[in-house]
Amino acid sequence: MNIRNSVLLICIIFTACVSQKAPSTAAPSIPVQSNLVADGKLFTAMYQQKAAEYKALCFQAYNIAQLRLDQFLTKQYTKPLAIVTDIDETVLDNSPYAVKQGLAGETFDEKSWNEWTSLANADTVPGACTFFRYAASKKVEVFYVTNRAESDRPQTLKNLQRYNFPNADDQHLLLLTNTSSKEPRRQSILQTHEIVMLCGDNLADLSVLYDDKKFDSRLKNTQILAAEFGNRFIVLPNPNYGDWENAFYNLDKSMSKDSIIRSRLIVY
Ligand SMILES: [Mg+2]
Repeated sequence: MNIRNSVLLICIIFTACVSQKAPSTAAPSIPVQSNLVADGKLFTAMYQQKAAEYKALCFQAYNIAQLRLDQFLTKQYTKPLAIVTDIDETVLDNSPYAVKQGLAGETFDEKSWNEWTSLANADTVPGACTFFRYAASKKVEVFYVTNRAESDRPQTLKNLQRYNFPNADDQHLLLLTNTSSKEPRRQSILQTHEIVMLCGDNLADLSVLYDDKKFDSRLKNTQILAAEFGNRFIVLPNPNYGDWENAFYNLDKSMSKDSIIRSRLIVY
């Protein structure tokens, strides 16, 4: 085949290709309304399970906790010392539950949560075991103040005991009472102990100032308490759920959660 014929053949093939191109069937762009909340739970669980940064933040929190505890132990106290800690996403990792729900397009509900906790199979939050065992070695008692239900008591203890958390017994496990506020339970501990530190992923784990769950006051009170974080208050990361999320959705109860997310976040 000479050059002229070769060029001719290429032109024929090119023309054939162009003429066989499918007509455009592109529909007008319609945004897909994904289930932002359920899908978001998968994304945040991915961070909790797979991001080394999440693990590093947990170690950072408990490393600071140990540093502060050593400082607090140099002071004189009249009562036995205690640390008050939350359980979920503070000492136990419930991200498999979030994934199970997210894959089903669901979020938290009481029945499925009870199925999960009844397994007593949650892993530990990085650094938690080491820190609380350290505290126990210094004769500081650990009180677990959680809003898990009283019916969850045996399995919660079983889960904590599986990892040899100190003080994992009935006396040191304070479950949900007639109020979700943890303040009455903290006050009951204060009658016999000096609380030197509080640990939690939810700010209401730390102070009564967060029992008012309004969005703006949560931010304002965090400013007021700024010096306490990394001091008496040790905060663990939890991107998956918490009062922060409920407070955000409560900004406008007439709108769906997805709509609030789409309309309230900052965009440029
Ligand atoms: Mg928690």
